[in-house]
Amino acid sequence: MDLDFSAEDLAFRDEVRTFIAENYPEELRGKQDEGEELGKEDFLAWHKVLAKKGWVAPAWPVEYGGTGWTQTQRYIWSEETARADCIRLLPFGLSMVGPVIYTFGTPEQKAHFLPRILSGEDWWCQGYSEPGSGSDLASLRTKAERATDSGGDHYVVNGQKTWTTLAQHADWGFFLVRTDPDAKMQEGISFLLIDMKSPGIEVRPIITLGGEHEVNEVFLDNVRVPVSNRVFEENKGWTCAKFLLAHERVGIAGVASSKRSIERIKDIAKTEMDGDKALLANPFFKRKVAELEIDLAALEYTELRTLAGMAAGRGPGPESSVLKIKGSEIQQRLTELTLEMAGHYGAPYFRGFGAKEPWGDNEHPIGPAWANRAAPTYYNARKTTIYGGSNEIQRNVIAKMVLGL
Ligand SMILES: Cc1cc2nc3c(=O)[nH]c(=O)nc-3n(C[C@H](O)[C@H](O)[C@H](O)COP(=O)(O)OP(=O)(O)OC[C@H]3O[C@@H](n4cnc5c(N)ncnc54)[C@H](O)[C@@H]3O)c2cc1C
Repeated sequence: MDLDFSAEDLAFRDEVRTFIAENYPEELRGKQDEGEELGKEDFLAWHKVLAKKGWVAPAWPVEYGGTGWTQTQRYIWSEETARADCIRLLPFGLSMVGPVIYTFGTPEQKAHFLPRILSGEDWWCQGYSEPGSGSDLASLRTKAERATDSGGDHYVVNGQKTWTTLAQHADWGFFLVRTDPDAKMQEGISFLLIDMKSPGIEVRPIITLGGEHEVNEVFLDNVRVPVSNRVFEENKGWTCAKFLLAHERVGIAGVASSKRSIERIKDIAKTEMDGDKALLANPFFKRKVAELEIDLAALEYTELRTLAGMAAGRGPGPESSVLKIKGSEIQQRLTELTLEMAGHYGAPYFRGFGAKEPWGDNEHPIGPAWANRAAPTYYNARKTTIYGGSNEIQRNVIAKMVLGL
């Protein structure tokens, strides 16, 4: 989309482009180009470069370490990082618990946790969902009781969380727990920050369809948590939970990275052959690309409207549900198209081998590097319509809050 940027904005864009070109970690770029699976250090490599520059949390208020950029500059930033194929920073600290802490936390919580989120020192995970409490999150049963053996300054937490993304690396987790079993469902919940090294925490892997270890079950057995690690009032954690979910949904739309994915698909389809013609000349394929581009342009306008509203002081409202639905569907269609392009190159995916033959010397690639992760990425993207509140639930929100049904 062509936006009318001012001279200052264009100068900012040049500064961003130069910074990325000169500072994006080379080793990470190499792994991305080869379609290798990324580990903890890979995720943190770019984070740390940005933290040093002071650019890691553009959305945060300046007093807590934000950049003070205008909404247009933030738009330019997300466009340029996507255009340059920079990995997306993990949201759990920066976009989820960070804003909860600077909005609802005590001065001590802000002083301790916010700088560590910015520096990447603490890796966070989100302990919301439980077996039986996903869409119906307020029914959660993990309970926190005040300990009587330490003057009441600790909670003792017992229960189970599930689908906890990347908890195997986490230093800290933000958890929703039930502190009043007798109150109405939403009213008896508190928001706790829990040290993942606490005795009584066990993280067990769940291996997904694509063969990856991204999600986990987390068991809490008599875990002691200082009361000072509770954010906001006891039994009012639902306020923090809702605030966080609305922010999570805006981020999930992923417009800039989807735009980059379409460009990548078009570039590949210009050189991959379909018979004696480029794949992009195939009218059926071309039509799918065009439909995606049109839907994405519509989503981008909706996102810009939402961001303009946020810049004017209005929080992301029910329109974030529209962003979530359309953004996640587009992300899935992009992975479908990439898998379609990969064709049989996408079929022989063996964990650890990419698309290389898992026999002999393992050196013989079956397909081009871009096809290496086509299948696992396709499988992995099934999650986008489930997490952050499933798309069916988002449709319920729109029906109630937007259409008034
Ligand atoms: C890859 C992945 C990563 C995740 N990461 C995390 C994480 O880090 N932390 C965390 O806390 N959670 C995480 N989640 C959990 C996620 O938030 C839940 O999976 C989601 O909220 C859905 O809950 P559920 O799986 O229990 O499904 P259910 O709530 O049981 O829903 C099952 C189906 O029924 C539909 N449904 C349910 N209720 C309604 C209704 N009222 N109206 C219409 N349809 C309905 C749903 O849309 C869905 O299709 C993750 C999930 C995935 C897949």
